[in-house]
This record gives sequence, structure tokens and C-alpha cells, in this order.
Amino acid sequence: MSATQTAQLMDGTGLAARLVAEAAATAAEMSRRTGTSPCLATVLVGEDPASATYVRMKRARCAKAGIRSRHIGLPATTTTAELVDTLNGLSGDPDVHGILLQHPCGPHIDERAAFEAIAPEKDVDGVTTHSFAAMSFALPGFVSCTPGGIMRLLDAYDVDLAGKHAVVVGRSAILGKPAGMLLLARDATVTYCHSRTRDLSALVREADVVVAAVGRPRLIRGEDVKPGAVVIDAGYNPGNVGDVDHESALTRASLITPVPGGVGPMTIAVLLAQTVAAAAHQLGVRHD
Ligand code: NAP
Repeated sequence: MSATQTAQLMDGTGLAARLVAEAAATAAEMSRRTGTSPCLATVLVGEDPASATYVRMKRARCAKAGIRSRHIGLPATTTTAELVDTLNGLSGDPDVHGILLQHPCGPHIDERAAFEAIAPEKDVDGVTTHSFAAMSFALPGFVSCTPGGIMRLLDAYDVDLAGKHAVVVGRSAILGKPAGMLLLARDATVTYCHSRTRDLSALVREADVVVAAVGRPRLIRGEDVKPGAVVIDAGYNPGNVGDVDHESALTRASLITPVPGGVGPMTIAVLLAQTVAAAAHQLGVRHD
């Protein structure tokens, strides 16, 4: 730790490993008791190399945790109707417990229509309207994996959120927006910032908790971090650079996620944990 560093690093890698180990133990127990292990269906439209790599990574992590995966690779020419048919089929297949539609699916696909074809009880990536509404009402359901990972990190470091001002920079459907809703459900006072926000720096300076979910390298400067604030950097930009200027934020924050090794590893871990929970629910196995 340098002389001026105030922040403790939040270890997403370690927490994710513990979460995956728990999911693997539950999967093993489930398979012993029911003869069936959890199964995640992964659906990929087209051959985008980055998307294909993400799916391969997710399937490899599933295999290591004792979760089966079934991959459905569809040609780039697949129509929305064909994709919806495939997802309806998986939603009704009793041997599939979770469904992951890798996105973006391509400009010709109506992604919202495709997501809605995923049965809510199999929506382990938390992409359906049903899942978003359930999360917003604090009802049981699956959350979008990255925000779910962020909340688990905050809890692991005993961050008290009630009454705190949380500033979420970014409002995407999979990250910023659900992150803000989850923080609100925990009684934080939430401000959303986005590309049309005026004077982002002034808002960040007021934050007890900052969630950076933008996709702009080092957009959040240390000088704007309130001393003692908790900084969650969900950004992942080329060169392993986050959305927060990490070096300068280290001298102001009390807790901060590194990039890599902070939020990133939590996303897949939550996907695996939610897949196991979905299987447990569908197979009628008690799961805590
Ligand atoms: P996105 O869909 O592109 O959304 C970016 C958001 O940032 C939008 O809401 C946008 O505002 C806002 N924004 C853009 N420029 C801004 C600016 N100058 N000031 C304030 N807000 C601005 O991105 P995303 O999918 O949410 O991803 C965000 C980042 O998180 C990326 O770096 C991505 O790689 C990373 N990510 C990481 C994980 C993980 O597992 N660790 C998972 C998902 C994403 P508008 O809504 O007004 O356009």
C-alpha cells in the first residue's frame, strides 16, 4: 500500500471462487439426490468471435462446477421468429434449468422479443421483463448477473447502504438500471447518471457509493471521489482499464474494486449460482 492509499481492495476473484464452490457443492448434492445435474442452455446467434469466446468461457466454468451445458449455435441469418421458437422449446424442456441468450444477437433480431420467450423460472441471466419487475418489487426471481455480483460484493464487505447516497453512472438494462434498483431496494438514495447528465463530477462528489457502469476508460476521476466513498468499477475497457481512474481513486475511497479482479469475476459466478438455484427449484430440492 502506498503512503497515500486509503482504499481497501474488494476481492471479487476470491468472493467469486467461494460462490462457485458453494454452487458446485449444491450441484453435486443435487445430482446425488436426484440423479440429475443442473443444465444451462447457451444460445448464440451468428459467429461473432468475442461472443463465441464468452459462451465458451461460461460453458467451461459450468463444467468445472458440475453444471451441464447444452449449446445451441444458430446461423447469423436466424430470424427473430426462429430464435423465439428455439427459446420457447428450451423453456418447455424439463432437462434444461437455465437459459442464457448471448447478446447482442445482431441488428436484425428483436432482442426484447427473444428475451421474453425465456421462461422466468429459467431466466438465470435476469433479462426478462418479469425478472426486472420482480427485482424492482423485491420479489423472488433472478437478477441480472453483474448487478447481482455488485450487491454480493457490497454485502461481503459489510457496506451499509441504508440512507447512503448511491450514484450509478450508466443506465443500461443489464447493468446500470438494475444496479440502481437493487441499491434502492436496500434503502440507498439513488441517483442515475447517463450520457445526458449535466455536471457528472458534481454528482459523483456527493456519492457515498459510486457504481461506474459506462464503458469509458477512467471517466471517473479520483478528485471527484468523496473521501471514504465506496467505489464499484464495473467498467471493462481494452487494456484491462475500468471506468474509474483507479490510481487516483485509491487515495480517496475507503473500498474500491480492482479491474480486473473486482466486478468481472462475480458476473459468471452469479450466473452459475442462479443456474443451480433454478435447477434446485425445478427439481424440488431444498436450496438455501
Ligand atoms: P452500455 O449499454 O453501452 O451503457 C453505457 C451507459 O453509460 C449508458 O447508459 C450511457 O448513457 C452511459 N454513458 C455513456 N457515456 C457517458 C458519459 N460520458 N457520462 C455518463 N454516462 C455515460 O454499456 P453496459 O453494457 O452497461 O456496460 C458498461 C461497462 O460495463 C462496459 O465497460 C462493459 O464492458 C462493462 N461490463 C462489465 C461486465 C462485467 O461482467 N464486469 C458486464 C457487463 C458490462 P445513455 O443511456 O444516455 O446512452
